[in-house]
Amino acid sequence: MDLTHTPQAQAFRAEARAWLAGHVPTAPLPSLETAEGFAAHREWEARLHADRWAVVSWPEEYGGRGVDIERWLVFEEEYWAAGAPGRVSQNGINLLAPTLFDHATAEQRARVLPSMASGEVIWAQAWSEPESGSDLASLTSRAVRTEGGWLLSGQKTWSSRAAFADRAFGIFRTDPQAPKPHQGLTYLMFDLRAPGVTVRPIGRLDGKPAFAELFLDGVFVPDEDVIGEPGQGWRIAMSTTGNERGLTLRSPGRFLAAADRLLGMWREVGDPADTALSDRVADALVGARAYELFTWGNASRFAAGETIGAESSLNKVFWSRYDIALHETALDLLGADAELADGAWAEPWLFSLAGPIYAGTNEIQRDIIAERLLGLPKGRR
Ligand SMILES: Cc1cc2nc3c(=O)[nH]c(=O)nc-3n(C[C@H](O)[C@H](O)[C@H](O)COP(=O)(O)OP(=O)(O)OC[C@H]3O[C@@H](n4cnc5c(N)ncnc54)[C@H](O)[C@@H]3O)c2cc1C
Repeated sequence: MDLTHTPQAQAFRAEARAWLAGHVPTAPLPSLETAEGFAAHREWEARLHADRWAVVSWPEEYGGRGVDIERWLVFEEEYWAAGAPGRVSQNGINLLAPTLFDHATAEQRARVLPSMASGEVIWAQAWSEPESGSDLASLTSRAVRTEGGWLLSGQKTWSSRAAFADRAFGIFRTDPQAPKPHQGLTYLMFDLRAPGVTVRPIGRLDGKPAFAELFLDGVFVPDEDVIGEPGQGWRIAMSTTGNERGLTLRSPGRFLAAADRLLGMWREVGDPADTALSDRVADALVGARAYELFTWGNASRFAAGETIGAESSLNKVFWSRYDIALHETALDLLGADAELADGAWAEPWLFSLAGPIYAGTNEIQRDIIAERLLGLPKGRR
């Protein structure tokens, strides 16, 4: 693998860096898990979009720049290094959009993608149900045929930012007679403000109110909002999860920037005689770099036309454990008071604790790694 960037990527880096230097808000925006922060982040998305930095890898017709994966990763590095705000539109741009590129009609792409890119419509992921998390195929929320579309009923839960989002995407049981649980499911999009939808916020560990459960009672979804063929929802959903666990949710730029901030802090307040803590800071730097190199390896494979498949589970276990270790190191460096503050490290530390759970728990990822990558026998379920 040649790690020298192409001249185009270097020029792109310079252009992105200059734009970010002139536009990233000087004070951090309020948390995007609050109503006020959500609105402020939506404005930031519009700002990014106005100069075509919101979705750089998308085709130009949808608001992107059509750049290759190398330039996308370079942009991500610059974005996070500049201290730019977290992406409130991440469920849409990282999860639904790749699914639409792979499975939607041209009409659906033209209708859905531009307003997603601009932040005008912010999407929530409505997959989990109270009894269906890891075993997602056991889900019971239904979509029943009606004239011109489908009627949704059931309950979804743990939907990130759904309290403030506009629309959601999820899978629903359309054929209860199908012989296997992952058959007879359909992938569709719906309006969170449609009649029959009740959105009830769930308080998070940090008290922020954006998380929600959704109650659906005869919610009408027109045929045009079904993605792919009815009954094919599982296959389509599996292409979404590869993106969720793989590159897009935790691009290496985020960890490189965080490890850099940690090093800066250690230089300011660290005690070199505390070798145990110094070693953990060094581990954080090495981990960020290792993840970066692993990602460039995957990027080379993508560029050669390969796909990521079950290997996205390796990424997921790595970044979720790394995130916790990095934040715990930062808090130990700052001392016990850091845990009490709603500060730069405390809020992301609390969120990092959820990393081994969301996007598919790490126990499930380890099963996938064992069975599909290592070829070990299936465990007892
Ligand atoms: C911060 C956060 C954000 C989230 N955002 C969203 C969202 O936006 N949209 C959405 O749809 N969902 C979301 N989720 C839900 C998340 O996807 C589920 O919590 C997750 O898939 C686990 O499902 P569960 O909570 O039902 O736990 P369970 O599936 O009940 O698992 C409980 C425990 O049992 C273990 N376990 C279960 N089955 C097995 C097995 N076969 N082998 C070994 N161990 C097993 C699990 O690993 C876990 O430790 C979010 C969750 C969190 C924490």
